[in-house]
Amino acid sequence: MIEPLDALKDKMVMVAKILQHQGVIDGYGHITARLSNNRILSTPHMPPGKVAVRDLIILDADGKKLEGFGEPNGETAMHTSIYKARPDVQCILHYHADELVAVAATGQEIKVISNCGVQFHRGTPIYDSPVLIRNEQLGDKVAQTLGDKVAVLLRGHGGTVVATNLDQLLRLGLDLVRSAKLQIMAAPLGPVKVHSKEECEAMTRIETRPDVHRRFIDYYVSEVVD
Ligand SMILES: [Zn+2]
Repeated sequence: MIEPLDALKDKMVMVAKILQHQGVIDGYGHITARLSNNRILSTPHMPPGKVAVRDLIILDADGKKLEGFGEPNGETAMHTSIYKARPDVQCILHYHADELVAVAATGQEIKVISNCGVQFHRGTPIYDSPVLIRNEQLGDKVAQTLGDKVAVLLRGHGGTVVATNLDQLLRLGLDLVRSAKLQIMAAPLGPVKVHSKEECEAMTRIETRPDVHRRFIDYYVSEVVD
């Protein structure tokens, strides 16, 4: 990730605060970002929305702590396995949002019934186990299930999203939960009409503009900054 470390740390703390403010993370969940020299910046083993810049820790590629006072999260292996399997991934969010657990329990992936879901149109595979990802073997299985997608749902547990920068990670993290919420809202009303592949592809092409997340991010930042 080509950002000075201090700016990256500030942004990671802000992203965590926004996710907590929006109610998609609670005492659990974690955010990491890839650094140079096979290092990883990570929120420590504490409620992510309560993390200050001084709490952030730096890990090696296998999850061993190199710097910082806090301890690595119990599910760090999920992050290290994904970084090893996906050189394109620069940051990862793992969380336990209720809406993701509800949708994953039905065995359905996220359906694109709203524009906020188009980034997930290539699929949101389900990792079919509720067991926490506490070792490399399980981490590799989650990475394998994620494949080349941007999100994976974990049955009975939550979800994990991957992105190329923290702005995109925040957007995907919020939009995945919002998409799940819409799916849950629409389900009792009857069959739903989903966006076509062509519609999703046309919309995700527009999403590649460099300033595409600006208005979205500005709104959420303004909600947590006085
Ligand atoms: Zn978890």
